[in-house]
Amino acid sequence: MSSIQVSKQLLTRWQSWRRRWVYALVSLTVALGLIVATPSPGHAQAPLLELLLRGVQIIQLSTLSDRQEVALGKQINDQLLSSEMRLSNDRQTTAYVDQVGQGLVPYSSRPNLPYTFQVVDSDQINAFATMGGYVYVTTGLLKAADNEAQLASVIGHEMGHIASKHSLEQMRQAALAQGITSLAGLDRNTAVNLGVELALRRPNSRRDEFEADQEGLATLKSAGYATSAMPAFMEKLQGQASLPSILSTHPAVSERIQTLNRMIDPATANSGFGLDSRAYRTEVSSLR
Ligand SMILES: [Zn+2]
Repeated sequence: MSSIQVSKQLLTRWQSWRRRWVYALVSLTVALGLIVATPSPGHAQAPLLELLLRGVQIIQLSTLSDRQEVALGKQINDQLLSSEMRLSNDRQTTAYVDQVGQGLVPYSSRPNLPYTFQVVDSDQINAFATMGGYVYVTTGLLKAADNEAQLASVIGHEMGHIASKHSLEQMRQAALAQGITSLAGLDRNTAVNLGVELALRRPNSRRDEFEADQEGLATLKSAGYATSAMPAFMEKLQGQASLPSILSTHPAVSERIQTLNRMIDPATANSGFGLDSRAYRTEVSSLR
């Protein structure tokens, strides 16, 4: 290699380094400029640079990739499990619920997410979900269901919330309403706390419920289950002496049943599998 070639190479390398540094400097200046120029809504906010120096991670909910959504969902799940609820240690039932859930995944509208189906040890009849593929059903709900198709209808509904990214949108809105987000984004720990709150205590909007029902029904049908199970389970729960949690956090039950019945063809409502209640009882027989 001649000395001219060597010095040419060095020059190119130096130019590319210089270019990179200039870009980095420009980006930093733009970022700082935005923060200075952005009036903070409501609460006082620490500037981005200070947050970054303190090791705070900032996330952008509006541009979250699937991978980032799954990572955030995992953190929310970890916090739910460590502080808010206990999972059932009944391995047979947990494996069964996972099997039913995984069986629905290929028929959902986000089949590429890694789904996790878990059984919460609670007598309350409830089911919920958080972003990134985490679905929870309680032992109370498993006992209340008459058959596998009814269980699948609840899981399908929760997967519908995940498919439509309802908790992400709720989180975005809650963060805006509470003035805890900025143009730079939302602090990751705050996002996790909000996610826990949303999964457990926030009722879904009427529109979200209908959307999740529609998604769930479509998944149930494509997977081959009898679609009649979805409104049938809601009717059963509605008839209980005290309204189960799953219905009190999911508004407008009678309207949901009516809407589902309009979407279901009565001629095929009972065709498909999952209506065998004796087979279901055997699957969940280890439940205490
Ligand atoms: Zn719901």
